[in-house]
Amino acid sequence: MTLTLFVLAVCALLFSVAARLRPCNPDQPPVVWKELGVDALYFVFSALFYGNVSLALMHAGVGAALGARAPAAIRAIEAGYGWLPTLPLAVQALLVLFVTDVLQYWLHRLFHGHALWPFHAIHHSSRHVDWTTTYRIHPAQFVVYSGMVAAIVQTLGFSPMVYVVLGPFNIVMGAFVHANLDWDLGPLRYVVATPVFHRWHHVDDVNVRDKNFAPTFPILDLMFGTFYMPKGERPQVFGAENTPDGFLAQLVWPFREVAGRLRARPAAPGVDAPAA
Ligand SMILES: [Zn+2]
Ligand SMILES: [Zn+2]
Repeated sequence: MTLTLFVLAVCALLFSVAARLRPCNPDQPPVVWKELGVDALYFVFSALFYGNVSLALMHAGVGAALGARAPAAIRAIEAGYGWLPTLPLAVQALLVLFVTDVLQYWLHRLFHGHALWPFHAIHHSSRHVDWTTTYRIHPAQFVVYSGMVAAIVQTLGFSPMVYVVLGPFNIVMGAFVHANLDWDLGPLRYVVATPVFHRWHHVDDVNVRDKNFAPTFPILDLMFGTFYMPKGERPQVFGAENTPDGFLAQLVWPFREVAGRLRARPAAPGVDAPAA
């Protein structure tokens, strides 16, 4: 936790200063207290409740699959097994990032579909996207998108050291792509996700936000036809329609929205027809 707070403090300093020097959206205020307050509550919530989610899911999944043999398998997974831990740590880190990106790319697209959108819309609800937006994730999305994916990747048997290295990297990467920075990294825009790349994804326009799904490697968007970075243009208006502003309201809203949609679904033909 100390390391997390230290990395966060570095991000706060670095990205706040950089956003003043080279903002993607110069008219965006440096601090919007109301939105910062909500993002801070999401951060506290994540610090309190998310620490062991992926581990618990991995234990549950391996337990369900292997029964009595699960404890030994879990010990092997947690220590790293097979040939993957024999690879250099940097190669393992790249592999973990890439496998995670592939899984999260497709899950992200699923969350943009009609059924799951209300849960993911919470992440898109910021009207002023900056590095603190990273933490605005609905718990239901966290469990599936972050917890479950991390649990699946962990079962592959990488060295536990790789997660120690990737912890700070993921914090910096999340803050970097959400920061209000006019950085697209030139030709590297196809190699690694940038603030301009991800800010396009946050645009409050259904035709634009269904682009740039990859967390780290835009090559996935290139491969699957969802890459969007028009030359000479910058994303302007952010947000998601109908989402509430408050933290508690945001936790409840997706469930009410999905329940309302289910109630509004037309009955199957013949269901309400009077008996002959
Ligand atoms: Zn999205
Ligand atoms: Zn985002």
